[in-house]
Parts: sequence; C-alpha cells; structure tokens
Amino acid sequence: MYYPEPISKLIDSFTKLPGIGPKTAVRLAFFVLEMEEYDVLEFGKSLVNAKRELTHCSVCGQITDQDPCSICQDEARDNSLICVVQDPKDVIAMEKMKEFSGKYHVLHGAISPMDGIGPEDINVPSLLNRLKDEGVEELILATNPNIEGEATAMYISRLVKPSGIRITRLAHGLPMGGDLEYADEVTLSKAMEGRREL
Ligand SMILES: [Zn+2]
Repeated sequence: MYYPEPISKLIDSFTKLPGIGPKTAVRLAFFVLEMEEYDVLEFGKSLVNAKRELTHCSVCGQITDQDPCSICQDEARDNSLICVVQDPKDVIAMEKMKEFSGKYHVLHGAISPMDGIGPEDINVPSLLNRLKDEGVEELILATNPNIEGEATAMYISRLVKPSGIRITRLAHGLPMGGDLEYADEVTLSKAMEGRREL
C-alpha cells in the first residue's frame, strides 16, 4: 500500500525466493528499477525460459532441456552403475568430480516423516523399473549424510536387496548433517572411493 502496484508486485515476487526477507526484497526491487531496460528484459526472459524449457528426464529425473538427458543418452557411460542422489544439483557436484562414469537417478527429495514426506513422494518407482530394464549391477546410494538421507538410503537398500544388486553407500569424509552439493570435489571423490557395502 506504500508503493505503486508494479513495485509492490515485484517486491512480493522477490519475497517468494529462498533467503530473501522483506527488506532485501525491497532493496532488490528498487535495484531492478535502476537497471538498464535490456538487462531487465534478459533477466525476465531467463526466468521464463528456465521454467518453460526445462523438464525432468523421464529416465533419471535430472533437470534437462532434452529428454532423455545428455547423461542418459551417453552410450560411453556405464549402465551397470547407478548413483542415486537427492537433488539435481548433486548430479552437477558429482560430474565436477570427473571420476564417475556410471549413470544417475535423482530422487527429488528424501524420506522425512517429520515433514510428511514418505517413500511415495520421492522418485523411487522409476528407479525400480530401471533396475529391471538396464542390467544394473551396483547401486551407489549418495543421499545426503543426515537423518533423512540415511533413512532414504536404508529404505531403498531394503527394497532392492532381494534382487541381488550390489548396494553401496558413500563413506568417508562427507560431513554428517551436510548437503552433498556443498562437498568439494576431493571429499566427494574420497567418499566415492571408500563407499561401503550396505
Ligand atoms: Zn537422464
């Protein structure tokens, strides 16, 4: 009510972003007003395009602009090895390590009874189908080293174990309670080397 409507709408939009409080939202909105019109248009276009042109890979769940994603399409990669992660950003972290030649599966979350997120809310059914179809020999559970990530790893492990597929979990070096995406390449690489049987 203090600002003209276009500004208050812009402030509202910024407030919806994570980590942006009301004061920061006001600061950002006024900053946009000072920007060159071209830059503002490009910014707006990037927002819309990112939303419209990106989809989830129908095989692995990764965010992609082509379906299946480039990793799933890559015939040089090892189909017998699937690394299961919680978040699309975790795939990027693993890829930066440049040592993993298998494929991925993105769960888009972790089991968290406290937040009402059950096994049916994460991308597990398509993983089970892949295990049947793709000749998978090892499943590396790279969910985050915290309570939710552990619970999710245990759940998948119990589900898959009867099929005889080798199940491993990333080991050393990853800080407990942390997010995989924030681990540096060396730590991640060590964790991959030292993965243990579940
Ligand atoms: Zn994919």
